[in-house]
Amino acid sequence: MTQVMEKSRLEEAVAQAHAENKALPGGANASYIPYLASVPSDLFGVAAVTTGGEVFTAGDAKFEFAIESISKVFTMALAMEQVGADTFRKKIGADPTGEAFNSVIALELHGDRPLSPLVNAGAIATTSLVAAKDKEDRYQQILGIQSAFAGRPLSMSQDVNGSEQSTNFHNRALAWLMQSAGAMYSEPMEAVDVYTRQCSTLITAVDLAVMGATLASGGVNPLTGKRVVQTQNVAPILAEMMMEGLYTASGDWAYTVGLPGKSGVGGGILAVAPGKMAIAAFSPPLDPVGNSVRAQAAVADVARALALNPFGPAPAPR
Ligand code: GLN
Repeated sequence: MTQVMEKSRLEEAVAQAHAENKALPGGANASYIPYLASVPSDLFGVAAVTTGGEVFTAGDAKFEFAIESISKVFTMALAMEQVGADTFRKKIGADPTGEAFNSVIALELHGDRPLSPLVNAGAIATTSLVAAKDKEDRYQQILGIQSAFAGRPLSMSQDVNGSEQSTNFHNRALAWLMQSAGAMYSEPMEAVDVYTRQCSTLITAVDLAVMGATLASGGVNPLTGKRVVQTQNVAPILAEMMMEGLYTASGDWAYTVGLPGKSGVGGGILAVAPGKMAIAAFSPPLDPVGNSVRAQAAVADVARALALNPFGPAPAPR
């Protein structure tokens, strides 16, 4: 297949996934974080970025939204770079919880120790694991790796952060439970503060696709050419995304799409096709699990149109 045909196929897949899912009904903005409830629900953007650095977009792909839980992937990468994948797995865990992303029960069932870096408890423990001299340093390192993944300097939304810092009592409870089990690696409330800030970074669907394409290309950002993570850490990161990236819908996602993915309550979804590309979409209304309704459909449609499932063709989910 020539490069030109490949390009038009990609362009068409992204445009079609946007057009076909634009009017997809269902879901509701996250309401437990006041700011997120106020984002216009009809926003919808799709982007794909290849490992060669080609960018394809449709709809509101340049609208800035809160990264939220997708930040967990990049803080995991940072901590893994510092302590190594093996120590990381021993301290944070690697298995799906089978429970909601903010579950207390999942902790209680496992001696108050986290199981996975991609749900709130394990993600807060991961933030605490980052080697830092103080709170500001911890946050700047995390913002730094997010920016390196995106290939541009990202920044925090004061509105999102303010909204979330004043309502994040549930996450504080998770941190104290983990502290009781010796599973926190910095002062617990410092870690929750920084975790909340890392969730408040503003990104676009294009940024998110570049971040994913960096994982797709073995840890090198395809736009800047800079190495962001060691290649040996990419496989465990993608494995975690495959198992827990869409919370209790991760199994459904693997069954129908077959690609490592990650969602956030800001409405973003990312999927990575190793060696090929990343697909990202954004739309605020979420299903009951906490995954964007339109973004899931759009990313799944692009993946299907381009036959990206490494396991072979899978049945359409609807
Ligand atoms: N900041 C959010 C929280 O901690 C992130 C959750 C998510 O995106 N699923 O609740």
